Amino acid sequence: MQDAKLTAKAHDDHGTVIALNEQVTVGGDELLIVGGPCSVESLDQMEAIATRLGQRTIQALRGGVYKPRTSPYAFQGMGEAGLAILDRVRRRYHLPVITEVMAIHQIEAIAAHADALQVGSRNMQNFDLLKALGKVDKPIVLKRGLAATIQELVMAAEYIAAHGNPNIILCERGIRSFDTYTRNVLDLGAVVALKQITHLPVIVDPSHAAGKRELVPNLARAAIAAGADGLMIECHPVPEESVSDARQALSLEDMAALVESLRPIATAVGRRMPEAIAPQEPALV
Ligand code: PEP
Ligand code: MN
Repeated sequence: MQDAKLTAKAHDDHGTVIALNEQVTVGGDELLIVGGPCSVESLDQMEAIATRLGQRTIQALRGGVYKPRTSPYAFQGMGEAGLAILDRVRRRYHLPVITEVMAIHQIEAIAAHADALQVGSRNMQNFDLLKALGKVDKPIVLKRGLAATIQELVMAAEYIAAHGNPNIILCERGIRSFDTYTRNVLDLGAVVALKQITHLPVIVDPSHAAGKRELVPNLARAAIAAGADGLMIECHPVPEESVSDARQALSLEDMAALVESLRPIATAVGRRMPEAIAPQEPALV
């Protein structure tokens, strides 16, 4: 791909492995499963997810505290109070956390409390933000824009890499099309192509692609079969009460069952599911 100087794959077996913390990586043989709510709502909510899913089902937590909402009147996220919750859960349960950065002025605080910074679809081509994230020493999860081509996604990653940060995880989350039954169209062709074009890990977010919780498990399974390095899935202790994206949130039981169902598929495509982490007492923080 033209101009993908730093993100293009040099040879067939050249895949970059990115560490989220000392235990959790993405891009190697082991798949990465990220779970959590659309929005961080309370400490109880995040602790419920960490205790129920943190030892076997998920290796990293997601949850937005700065939310890019279509309506200015919708919940905009907890902001710094939400960051404090993420930081507490991350240290108490030894789980890396991923949260969205919407603006340059948020970078410092988010980088201090999160293990990876997410660029949302609506910001994929916010070039000043991408340049600033090039100076951050944490991995970046770069989500594909609502109507961005594969080339544009790779070039957005190239901005981050060219400005100094090589730790970029690409995320396919569905693209706009004419059908309204699904929220977006999950482009698994892009996953296959990105794995061939770039050496970066590619994960799939079936939740924002589907928009409906009953579509999520099969899309997740298809993504692993297509060669994705991991999944980011929205789940909630009481899905119907989610303050945002309630319709696509899985219950914690459904999330656990979905991840278990991935095992034979992972084996079939030569990948490993992460080993269960030995139960440990929550750290006193
Ligand atoms: C999200 O992950 O919460 C989100 C807002 O997703 P996207 O940027 O893909 O719409
Ligand atoms: Mn969401």
